[in-house]
Amino acid sequence: SAALYVVATPIGNLADLSPRAAAVLGEVALVAAEDTRHTARLMRHLGLSVPMLSLHEHNEAARVEQLDARLAAGESIALVSDAGTPLISDPGFVLVRELRARGRRVVPIPGACALVAALSAAGLPTDRFAFQGFLPAKGGARRARLEALAGREETLVFYESPHRIRDTLADIGAALGERRVVLARELTKAFETFLSGSAGELLAQLEADPNQARGEFVVMLAGAAPRAAETSAEMGGEALLAALLAE
Ligand code: SAM
Repeated sequence: SAALYVVATPIGNLADLSPRAAAVLGEVALVAAEDTRHTARLMRHLGLSVPMLSLHEHNEAARVEQLDARLAAGESIALVSDAGTPLISDPGFVLVRELRARGRRVVPIPGACALVAALSAAGLPTDRFAFQGFLPAKGGARRARLEALAGREETLVFYESPHRIRDTLADIGAALGERRVVLARELTKAFETFLSGSAGELLAQLEADPNQARGEFVVMLAGAAPRAAETSAEMGGEALLAALLAE
């Protein structure tokens, strides 16, 4: 039956598009794209010519009825964003929520996602992590957000733009001190780089080599050190209390 396919596209290297994603893009009646001109380049690369429609944060709610009607008519639709997995800091959530509420079939076609690629090669713990999307653009709000996250023990993952990477590193240093930061830059592209160190060390590296401040970044932070001593002391107290009560 007809479905909305949520299709991941490459984050740089076009070879990362899966054969299944290419097949779906070739079979649907319509591709709903964050930026149709951007996606047109991918479609040309695949040798595909499929009607496209824009779907971005400003028209997403208004598109729901239109796309629902196409599905009702038996036409399948692919949702793609400019890069990576739709809905991950990209449009699509409202559409998926509304189509699911109407009982439509929504099928993920997994593939590249910058946060998962970054974590998979960073060398920071991955058993628990918290993706935090983009930090606020304004300095005060950004520092407040970082301070609110200071006690989190899991690895923290952020997306960041090249315009703000230096300010963000400075704020991470100010809010969280010496903990380890890993920058994953230009993943899957020619100048892919992983830099690891304290926020201050990374800031110095970016100032020394401005090329390192160009491109796209995933910022990862080691979690806060677990408060093991305090916890075991508490547990000790509870165990003691339980023993006394038992007597
Ligand atoms: N939906 C995408 C995904 O699945 O990763 C993310 C879209 S979000 C609007 C764009 C942000 O993702 C960039 O600012 C950057 O933080 C990160 N990003 C995307 N491609 C990247 C790449 N090749 N290398 C590093 N970061 C990347």
